[in-house]
Amino acid sequence: MNRGRALLAGAHAWCFVCLGSMSAARAQGGSMVAQPPDPTRSEDKIAIAEFAVLSQFAAANGLHATLMMDDGGGCIAYPDQTIVLDRSQITTNLSKIDSNRMSAFVRFLLAHELSHLIQFNKYSYAPATASDPVRQEMESEADIGGGMILYLTLTSQLQSNQTTQIIQDALQLVFNMGQDAEFIGGFHPTHEGRRTSLRYGLSLGTYEYALEAINAGASMYVSSRDHLSAVLELQQTHSVPWTRYMARQITHTGFPNMTSVINSDVDPGISANGMKFNYQVTYTNITPKSVAFDGSVQSISFLRSSPNDTFQSLLWGSNTQRIQLAPGGSVTVTGAMDRVDNSQYVAKLVCPPDPIALYSTGS
Ligand SMILES: [Zn+2]
Repeated sequence: MNRGRALLAGAHAWCFVCLGSMSAARAQGGSMVAQPPDPTRSEDKIAIAEFAVLSQFAAANGLHATLMMDDGGGCIAYPDQTIVLDRSQITTNLSKIDSNRMSAFVRFLLAHELSHLIQFNKYSYAPATASDPVRQEMESEADIGGGMILYLTLTSQLQSNQTTQIIQDALQLVFNMGQDAEFIGGFHPTHEGRRTSLRYGLSLGTYEYALEAINAGASMYVSSRDHLSAVLELQQTHSVPWTRYMARQITHTGFPNMTSVINSDVDPGISANGMKFNYQVTYTNITPKSVAFDGSVQSISFLRSSPNDTFQSLLWGSNTQRIQLAPGGSVTVTGAMDRVDNSQYVAKLVCPPDPIALYSTGS
């Protein structure tokens, strides 16, 4: 079955890209020290087997990638369709993961790099040398793509109990590889950002899987496809591909472009939950460029015992508006939203550029 073809023929737009830090060095004439895989080495043996699976997917997308191995230089995708896999990333983790699980681990590493090759075709090589926020966006999109490719190439395992473990391994891997804080000395998303990206990719893979099954005559997947596309908002019309749109939400591109000021008061006794936020949020564009984004004002309750733990927070309300601002421009939005405070939780109103709030730049 030609999964790539089903993918490209899909009604929704998708694509992705990602780029290694050393790509730029090579594009500028630097040398690459990687060598072809050596089948007598255990790490290379795994890489060769997993690359063979992904090569079929790549070919269906018009890509003819070449695998090279390196020691300690990082995993990198190059515009000439060379993918370099870093043996040390395999060796380091071989002690933590048994060899059966290692195959899926390596497949995800390769799938992420393959996503970068698709990005090169889609956007050219320019984003690889762009500013850190744009590169974070590319890396996030490569994790989304990597997750989708991982899911779609797991067909033989989908019916077995290996799937859960493989997906957990991938989720832990990207979390470990994330960086500690946004926009501080690096071009990868945060730990949580990378894991979120992968989750979207796995969801997209599930959608594609259902779509493919329907095309092959399995009508029982129709409701799954429709449900997934609604949940993922795949039918929404965005000016950029869905994967890029989601990557922007995850990495908060445009973070430095604006400020917001929240004025809110608590109005007791109005809602079923006891209190509401009556709010006014003023967004200001502090750059000389026009900015457009989806501003989402959210009422969130955080655990009093761990107020920074977004995993354990509860979302009570969300109001999203498309905001467009000329250079120096301001706009104020108003509204009311349930607010839940009690002995266990503390309520907070959140909006961009607070990284807790999701929003996206772009026209
Ligand atoms: Zn990457």
